[in-house]
Amino acid sequence: MAILDSTLNLQSFYPSDLKILSIEDTHDKIIIHMHSTSTSCTCHRCGALLHQHHGSHRRTVQDLPILGKRMILDMQIYDYECNSDACASSAPTETFGGFLSYNSRMTDRLEDFACVLAVETSCEASARIMKSMNVKISGDTVIRLLLKRYSKQPAKICGSSIGIDDFAFKKRHTYGTIIVDEATHNTVAILDGRDGATLKEWLKQNKHVTTVSRDRASAYAKAVEEILPNCMQIADRFHLHQNLMEAVNKILGREIPATNEIPINSPENNTDLSTSQIEAGKKNLIQCG
Ligand SMILES: [Zn+2]
Repeated sequence: MAILDSTLNLQSFYPSDLKILSIEDTHDKIIIHMHSTSTSCTCHRCGALLHQHHGSHRRTVQDLPILGKRMILDMQIYDYECNSDACASSAPTETFGGFLSYNSRMTDRLEDFACVLAVETSCEASARIMKSMNVKISGDTVIRLLLKRYSKQPAKICGSSIGIDDFAFKKRHTYGTIIVDEATHNTVAILDGRDGATLKEWLKQNKHVTTVSRDRASAYAKAVEEILPNCMQIADRFHLHQNLMEAVNKILGREIPATNEIPINSPENNTDLSTSQIEAGKKNLIQCG
């Protein structure tokens, strides 16, 4: 039979270099006062292992709430000296091995939770749910967290054949451009706008592309022609079919009247109908009309 312990080792939920000094428990929040005991850290810019303290500062960050109470970490943490050429004038702050991002006011696990909620619902819904859990966060902050994670992802490499199309972030207001690898059908880039300007910048970084499948609008065609003049441009089947259907609908709308009455008593229409069938038809027509 398992032995149940009534205590919880709170220190085990935090990095070993971040020691708990005291805990305040109020009616709506828990404040944990902590200080760093680290003697080294990894520079968040250049990756160098640093050993020289530059100073220290106090930072207040939010962590995952406990039983509906807001969790505040009041931390005294170190800045380190980084003497590499890339960081000569900086004093990077320790990040405790991924526990706390540089300059962040939330622990990484709280940011992760906000992003997971946003992906499953929306940024505003994520913020509303988290506020109900006593986390202070706005929809705009959730958007910034998602963008930060997106920017950290390694650039996706696409093949030589791509498909380009536009889409609406918000219909009739803001549009974007999506680029798909034709071989894998994976999305390789989401760009702002659909006027071809951002597409040009993307193509400059991907000059190995030899085939572009696109719609028949001129913006993308001009961008590809300008940056990759030898690239084969293909009007894709979906847009050809879409354009054909639009043209057929336009002709039908112009040539055929919206209503076309068929006389019930017309000899050519009722040669095979009995008198009772015609009467039933009239009755249905009256009921429907
Ligand atoms: Zn550095």
